[in-house]
Amino acid sequence: MKIIFEKSIKNRRGVTLPKNDVPVNAAIPEKYARKSPPELCEISELDAVRHFTALSRKNYGVDTNFYPLGSCTMKYNPKICEKIAGMGGFAGIHPVFGRLIMNNGASWTHGAMTVLHNLEDLLCRITGMDAFTLQPMAGAHGEFTGMAVIAAYHRKKGNRKTVVLIPDEAHGTNPSSAAAAGYKVRTVPTDPKTGILEIEALKAAMDENVAAVMMTNPNTLGLFNPRIKEIADIAHSYDALLYYDGANLNAIMGKFRPGDGGFDVVHLNLHKTFGTPHGGGGPGAGPVGVKSILEPFLPVPRLAAKSSAGKTGAHFEFSDDYPDSIGPVAPFYGNFSVCLKAYVYILMMGGKGLTEVSEQAVLSANYIMHSLKDYYDVPFLKTCMHECVLTAKRQAERGVGAADIAKGLIDRGIHPPTVYFPLVVKEALMIEPTETESKETLDEFIAAMIDIAKCAETDPESLKRAPVTTPLGRLNEAKAAKDMDVAFL
Ligand SMILES: *Cc1c(COP(=O)(O)O)cnc(C)c1O
Repeated sequence: MKIIFEKSIKNRRGVTLPKNDVPVNAAIPEKYARKSPPELCEISELDAVRHFTALSRKNYGVDTNFYPLGSCTMKYNPKICEKIAGMGGFAGIHPVFGRLIMNNGASWTHGAMTVLHNLEDLLCRITGMDAFTLQPMAGAHGEFTGMAVIAAYHRKKGNRKTVVLIPDEAHGTNPSSAAAAGYKVRTVPTDPKTGILEIEALKAAMDENVAAVMMTNPNTLGLFNPRIKEIADIAHSYDALLYYDGANLNAIMGKFRPGDGGFDVVHLNLHKTFGTPHGGGGPGAGPVGVKSILEPFLPVPRLAAKSSAGKTGAHFEFSDDYPDSIGPVAPFYGNFSVCLKAYVYILMMGGKGLTEVSEQAVLSANYIMHSLKDYYDVPFLKTCMHECVLTAKRQAERGVGAADIAKGLIDRGIHPPTVYFPLVVKEALMIEPTETESKETLDEFIAAMIDIAKCAETDPESLKRAPVTTPLGRLNEAKAAKDMDVAFL
């Protein structure tokens, strides 16, 4: 596709401007005045409209097609959440207003602070935690915050602990966050038969140096670890804490609360589970919840109830009065609009609705896994949670790897699943359908995957050439990431 300047035709006009009634160069000293007309794109209005409409249609998103990117929960987010986040009273407030009080003692941002307070409360109830901070801006930021809180806890107790245990299937941000908080990471193998962290492996890896065990449950293989209480007891017997990566919360809402399972810290990805679209680098939010033993260490400022709140007074205030706090981890108090959307989403769904979300997400993933199990190998063929992991091992023998299957899906109008992750599965295809897709859409995806599996048998070369329906075929991915040239399209 050409860039718009390449479509320019000399003297073609899209608009006719009114005649200039101001003296030319009246306000500009002669030496700065333009000597020749600017080089603008000369194009008709219709061609400009067609150009930008065509560009917009090259954008892929949940609003256009199915997006089963595993571990990312690319579900449809109700537009009402955006609408409310865009309301002037919310979108127009400056974060420093949260610190200001009017002359009559009332808060400038009573409504917004009530939203934040109520959201903290709801997240505590959903996760079984005692306190939340909404400061962290993303999941990984939440992980770092949680690990820093754990480090502060051990420092306060005089514990000299240096190691964090993380299962080998974990998301890459887990070891990074633990390392960024100053810990050494020790990897614990998941059981090759069951796909989860087994008690014996944990026991073998535990010792006095372990500050925390970081887990995702269900894990990135989409499998739930039912023995979490025993794992917590083992960790706690060494005075180690249990960290819950809540990126997979979409699988277990209303069914399992990390706080009840013995977890001491959780982070949530509001942009995955609670009503904010993500991808393309949009804003996220990674609130962190803790049990009461860790509350003193949460980042400041914290949202505190004001003791002297009158009828018109400020009911909440930002307080820095927490001497053991790890300090701020973000300017102001998190991504307000993302928190607001989560609040709207949770209120709209209610407890029953959130439970149904998880039930439906799990049902969809199992439907896909069972519909595809005769065509692709399934490394752990048992009931999965909100996502299923297949492997292209069989297809790879014919030279068709997970990446080729992904490209084949693009030609069939579907966004590929996550590939080559988790690392413990060779040729992994990690599929997360979410609860928002209809059975018809799931069936279309299943049909496309079966078609690709057959193609791998009969015409593997065609998959090696895919995609052929996109403006560009296979990119040099390293160069695309390091030397991006978006204008090339
Ligand atoms: C997405 C994800 C993260 C990281 O969250 P970000 O918001 O992308 O920083 C961590 N762990 C798991 C399992 C995830 O899926």
